[in-house]
Amino acid sequence: MSDTVSGPLTAESIAGAAYIIAALLFILSLAGLSRHEKARTGVIYGISGMAIAFTATIWLTLQGAGATGAALTGLVLLVIAVLVGGAIGLWRARVVEMTGMPELIALLHSFVGLTAVLVGWNGHLQAPALAEDLMAVHHAEVFIGVFIGAVTLTGSIVAFLKLSARMKSSPLMLPGKNAVNLGALAAFAALTAWYVNDSQLWLLVVVTLLALGLGWHLVASIGGGDMPVVVSMLNSYSGWAAAAAGFLLNNDLLIITGALVGSSGAYLSYIMCKAMNRSFISVIAGGFGIAAPAEGDADYGEHREITAQATAELLSNASSVVITPGYGMAVAQAQYPVAELAHKLKERGVEVRFGIHPVAGRLPGHMNVLLAEAKVPYDIVLEMDEINEDLGGTSVVLVIGANDTVNPAAAEDPGSPIAGMPVLRVWEAENVIVFKRSMAAGYAGVQNPLFFRENSQMLFGDAKQQVEDILRAF
Ligand code: NDP
Repeated sequence: MSDTVSGPLTAESIAGAAYIIAALLFILSLAGLSRHEKARTGVIYGISGMAIAFTATIWLTLQGAGATGAALTGLVLLVIAVLVGGAIGLWRARVVEMTGMPELIALLHSFVGLTAVLVGWNGHLQAPALAEDLMAVHHAEVFIGVFIGAVTLTGSIVAFLKLSARMKSSPLMLPGKNAVNLGALAAFAALTAWYVNDSQLWLLVVVTLLALGLGWHLVASIGGGDMPVVVSMLNSYSGWAAAAAGFLLNNDLLIITGALVGSSGAYLSYIMCKAMNRSFISVIAGGFGIAAPAEGDADYGEHREITAQATAELLSNASSVVITPGYGMAVAQAQYPVAELAHKLKERGVEVRFGIHPVAGRLPGHMNVLLAEAKVPYDIVLEMDEINEDLGGTSVVLVIGANDTVNPAAAEDPGSPIAGMPVLRVWEAENVIVFKRSMAAGYAGVQNPLFFRENSQMLFGDAKQQVEDILRAF
């Protein structure tokens, strides 16, 4: 018999191998999700990774507990928690509308934050017996984990309230708000040093309250136009909160997964900031250095209206059409008739393309998901930068439920709250038809001068209804 085998196969080593496989599947999942064509495979990798991770964790927990009464209680509690959580998750995922996804995601981020706070508190109340220097590391993990978790918790709740229109999307402008944020960070640094030296419970209470307040204030201070970055930023925070919990629970997979979510969320926030020409630091610091926007009460003159019948005629005579969808298309669930309209126009020899703004809708990639759902071919769905140059030579642009993302004020009015944000320059086209229900402003609360341009006409009503009327008129 050979005695060169390096060591026994323990429950930990088997679970460790499963964790590595799960982590690789998560990385493959992220890679898949970055391309339309591979998104479905990416989701399958993600589900498989989670199933492996979940099974390995439960198995490891049961192995560790052995055949004791405590193990049985643990198993029963675990099964109840999984069944209740799974049932709620399944129910919400099945009933949620595409328009409700962003707020659901914000709410889910708040659960990650809450979990990190609870794990941190547990780490304090049931502190392990460690050598002095390792104890200092443990205390730092507890304190930082609770801080990140609590910021994520209240920040996500405010994002949920803003995205579901239960709270106004305009920024909260407390006097000295930047000093409040910086002061909170300085207090956190000082309290961490104190707690690491002397882990008193009251310090943990103070940092929890401080972080809950800071999370609330950071997100409340951010205006509607910057909300996309907040959503991806909270995604990133929830990842770091999970990683912090992973350190405390000594779970490598949680650390890896948290770091993946944290860094991909941070990178997405950076991409969104670039797309919107915003300072990343300013946004993550709760709108640091951004002045209160002026109230827009400019008089842009009269707008013109058009009917579905007249729009159909205009489209019949067009040589090229660009469709720029926005949040209203998601609300109206108009993607199916819009896809049919594109198909019909193509059949008639009209060049049809879609122009997608990076923050259109209420989720990164929101419009791409809707168009993919309606089976619009990917090759006619172009990003803002790919289509902007061509808009000048386009016969008709159909703005379907978009508003902020096609607002010329962003390019032309330096005093506008969305000044500097790159937008789809639809006003350069020969004709612009705007599908919406009223003259109301978009999510950023800014009036849109596009509606009053000479080449613009408003097609009022529900976008789905209007597109179906156009199809009928054909
Ligand atoms: P906007 O939110 O600016 O405007 C949507 C328009 O759709 C509204 O003006 C509304 O006008 C119209 N609308 C609503 N329902 C219907 C309907 N049933 N039929 C027809 N029209 C309808 O949309 P955009 O997509 O242009 O811009 C996105 C905004 O959301 C940006 O400000 C962005 O910063 C923000 N945001 C984006 C996130 C992301 O990740 N993408 C996340 C959070 C915020 P009316 O009521 O008159 O019909």
